[in-house]
Amino acid sequence: MTWKAKNNIILGLGRNSSRLKRITDAFVFARESRVLEGTLAVSELDRLHDLLTDISGELAFSLHGAKGKRGEYTLRLRVSGQMSLACQRCLGAILFDLDIDNLLELVPEGADMSQDELEDDTRDFLPVAGELFVAELVEDEVLLAIPVAPRHEKCGFPGAADAGERINPFATLAGLKGKPN
Ligand SMILES: [Zn+2]
Repeated sequence: MTWKAKNNIILGLGRNSSRLKRITDAFVFARESRVLEGTLAVSELDRLHDLLTDISGELAFSLHGAKGKRGEYTLRLRVSGQMSLACQRCLGAILFDLDIDNLLELVPEGADMSQDELEDDTRDFLPVAGELFVAELVEDEVLLAIPVAPRHEKCGFPGAADAGERINPFATLAGLKGKPN
């Protein structure tokens, strides 16, 4: 293959970079203490779009594989970046600084887990068949990290403002009634 042909392929792959961020076997990734770092365009994280006022920008992530003390395989996921969440009252932007640092414990998909394990909230289990799509994982963790119903502390939406400033429609009506014809 010529250099030019190869380069064209690489350029083509670059356009779908997030789809390439795939780990073939998460358990091997952890066992070999591998590291994956990169960025993801917010525009490619479809499931976040309804919650945002602006889908421009990028999130930085890093994924560190490791083997824990109990022999468990772990992935430490860090995600950072700024997002514009939509206020649930006025739909205006609320700037939110994302700062995720989660230690995920890999478990084979469909594995039997003890009641103790299921109730242990100090451990964060991630069931995987093997293959892991990094963009999906990041999207999942971002969805869990952002507030469920974000609202401005002082929202400018009419009705949410100070009641004293509200215009009383009856006052206007009363004024009209008093007008001579
Ligand atoms: Zn608002």
